[in-house]
Amino acid sequence: MKLVWLRRDLRIEDNRALCSAIESEQPVMALYIATPETWQRHGLAPIQADLIKRRLVTLQTDLATINVPLYYAQVDTYQQAAQLVAEIAKSNSLDGVYFNKEYEFDEQNRDARLQELLVHAGIAAHSFDDKCALQPGSVLNKQGHYFKVFTPFKRAYLTRFYQQPISVIRPQPIGEVAQLHGEQAQLFSDNSSFDYPTESSATYPVDTSSIINQLRDFVAHRSERYSDLRDIPSIEGTSRLSPYLAIGALSVRQCMARLHDQHPKPLPPGREMWMSELIWREFYQHLIYFESKLSKGKCFLEWGDRLSWRNSSADIDAWKKGQTGYPIVDAAMRQLNHTGWMHNRLRMVVASFLIKDLHVDWHVGERYFMSKLVDGDYAANNGGWQWCASTGCDGQPYFRIFNPVSQGERFDPDGEFVCQWIPELAAVPRKFIHQPWKWCKAKELSYPPPIVDHKTEREITLSLYKEAKGNVDGA
Ligand SMILES: Cc1cc2nc3c(=O)[nH]c(=O)nc-3n(C[C@H](O)[C@H](O)[C@H](O)COP(=O)(O)OP(=O)(O)OC[C@H]3O[C@@H](n4cnc5c(N)ncnc54)[C@H](O)[C@@H]3O)c2cc1C
Repeated sequence: MKLVWLRRDLRIEDNRALCSAIESEQPVMALYIATPETWQRHGLAPIQADLIKRRLVTLQTDLATINVPLYYAQVDTYQQAAQLVAEIAKSNSLDGVYFNKEYEFDEQNRDARLQELLVHAGIAAHSFDDKCALQPGSVLNKQGHYFKVFTPFKRAYLTRFYQQPISVIRPQPIGEVAQLHGEQAQLFSDNSSFDYPTESSATYPVDTSSIINQLRDFVAHRSERYSDLRDIPSIEGTSRLSPYLAIGALSVRQCMARLHDQHPKPLPPGREMWMSELIWREFYQHLIYFESKLSKGKCFLEWGDRLSWRNSSADIDAWKKGQTGYPIVDAAMRQLNHTGWMHNRLRMVVASFLIKDLHVDWHVGERYFMSKLVDGDYAANNGGWQWCASTGCDGQPYFRIFNPVSQGERFDPDGEFVCQWIPELAAVPRKFIHQPWKWCKAKELSYPPPIVDHKTEREITLSLYKEAKGNVDGA
């Protein structure tokens, strides 16, 4: 009998660990373990906890079609989870434990502990690289090191990617249904609950056919115009698949395979751009694997740890609530607070505003995002925040500072997105929608004036960054 420990790989299709366990033709069981204390420490968003919980319900049904029962347990921490899996494996005399690797520091430690315990018990541990299409370490520069710049990474990535056609694997049903003995885990049921706060994620469908249809629809009908529309927040110009990629309800290979199945190489520009975004995801996964300091709160560039911050709690509060007086920033933060998702362009704008207009440590924003995002993913979130803080691997140059007014005017010219989230501004003439304080009736609005002056803060940022960088060359 084999056990597959599911974590952020909540699907049966193209799940390497699961498919491999099934190939052995022995009974297979799946196990999911909630770890609320570790989740709390990692700042898992209640909306993502809910998405996971709902996904487990549909996953159980999917697993039943291949005769794999889903078991469930809850402990406090990752280390206890590793211990529990090893105990279950021992007490049930399992032939092997299968799992897909995760590349963050705590996750690597958890899996190393499991391997140790299993080796000690004489039980085989089978781990798989499933999270990326090309695993960390498979895309290296000529010196054999990982890439520190995205463009050459992408070039090398695509060369490798096109050497071998991408394949998506599907599990076949197995004959006998496995049964777990003992009290350590129970069959998953609607009553299985996490001791963790949840917030409704009901607007995100979790059944496999809806997710696959969303992928198909995007690739068939919308990917072509991705490069034109991806920066306009009032339009559904992006795939909105990130929540599913984050919990592994969908694999990146399924996305890439669908893209190439419909449109063989060379991809037309819109589709090529979408592929490129998927490669950014891979870039950050590789980075987190090679640089454990990124999982420990450190900046990629060392001088970044010397930056000094104002960290005003009133400013942080206004930013979180969407009350900064800059409409594009506030609309975006309200979108995040209400839906658990934020448009990519706006993630960059609000992050830049927090860091470079309010002089708040980027870790504050990183943590707030994790606590709210339905698609929270440590590597992508850390990569995104460090990119905006200019302290990251191939980040934005520190002297490039988004102007929140011109970003609004450029990407939401008619204020459509702004008015959707800030009804207080409905009466403002479009000409002033991104700087309502300039409108003659601004005083009548129940909307705050800007909490800072962008021009002034920009100058302060330039000097703070120069001071932190000292004599270090480059951006
Ligand atoms: C400050 C900041 C924080 C972010 N935090 C997260 C996060 O926690 N989780 C997350 O999945 N993405 C994060 N991103 C990246 C990006 O904003 C989201 O992946 C994207 O908005 C998701 O929407 P979509 O699925 O419609 O994306 P699409 O545009 O359709 O892209 C397809 C997929 O590619 C991946 N992707 C796209 N852009 C990026 C990127 N810049 N970096 C890494 N992967 C990317 C995502 O998995 C996405 O679902 C962050 C970006 C920034 C600037």
